Amino acid sequence: MSLLITTECISCGACVPECPNEAIFESRSDAEAKGNHVGEGQGDYVITNDRCTECVGHFDEPQCSAVCPVDNCCISDPAYPEGQGLERRPKLTSVTIRRARRLGHGFVNHG
Ligand code: SF4
Ligand code: SF4
Repeated sequence: MSLLITTECISCGACVPECPNEAIFESRSDAEAKGNHVGEGQGDYVITNDRCTECVGHFDEPQCSAVCPVDNCCISDPAYPEGQGLERRPKLTSVTIRRARRLGHGFVNHG
């Protein structure tokens, strides 16, 4: 699964350096210009589902959500529901694991 950034985003930029996968961009056009796919319904800042792994292999929780000062701004993307949602994150799926491996990461399944 992937996360997305809602329109509640205040464009503070705090999440960008925290992402281990460089999955967060300041704009849709920036992400797409670099060949990434961006789902619908995102704010100014966006997360590309091509690169977001929920921080698997790096952290126990999604770092964008952890550092974001706005509640419910970095949330599960309903268009990529193969995971279990942030509240039940331990259930990693083959899709998420494949994505992490493609990006060259190991992973830890906390399930
Ligand atoms: S969940 Fe992790 S990998 Fe995905 S966008 Fe947020 S910080 Fe990046
Ligand atoms: S930390 Fe939150 S409010 Fe700041 S740019 Fe990222 S998503 Fe937007």
